[in-house]
Amino acid sequence: MQTIEIHGKKFITSIPRTSIENEVKRVAAEINRDYKGKRPLLLGVLNGAFMFVADLMRNLDIECEISFVKMSSYAGTTTTGAVKQLLGLNESIEGRDVIIVEDIVDTGLTMQSMLETLKGYNPASINIASLFLKPARLKVPIDVKYSAFTIPDRFIVGYGLDYDGLGRNLPDIYDAAE
Ligand code: 5GP
Repeated sequence: MQTIEIHGKKFITSIPRTSIENEVKRVAAEINRDYKGKRPLLLGVLNGAFMFVADLMRNLDIECEISFVKMSSYAGTTTTGAVKQLLGLNESIEGRDVIIVEDIVDTGLTMQSMLETLKGYNPASINIASLFLKPARLKVPIDVKYSAFTIPDRFIVGYGLDYDGLGRNLPDIYDAAE
């Protein structure tokens, strides 16, 4: 077990990179199976999902495209509750099979708001692939079709996820120490 400090806060290793790699491969296999012949458009949600979406796409062997959007509502270790606008959607998603690729579904408010906005552009289908899901924190019902890990209500960093801007480069996942 390894302890690190970010902005003076202690974090402890919780999920090693090998487990992340295995679960990302499992999710990719499910998408390969479900989307064969459909040419899905992956919509990576910046900033947190950049590492997940890169590794996920590397493991897709079907025709697929990628684009990135941004919808940030998080500051420090608590949700602000204020969900902002969807930024960066440049291409038409009308008639497309869209897979939103998110780092973590916490309260679900970000995904709820993004789904509402995207449905207005008439895609053929929308599903969510999230690296992490914290079921104990969900405030709204969100159907996460593909998730790599279900985790308890703890703040995590690493593999793309930050604590006030730092920690995204860590290859493993760390839990905030009590
Ligand atoms: P939601 O709208 O579902 O409450 O919040 C989702 C966003 O909050 C995620 O995309 C992520 O940016 C941030 N978030 C939620 N839980 C955590 C966490 O444990 N660690 C980090 N680094 N970000 C989190």
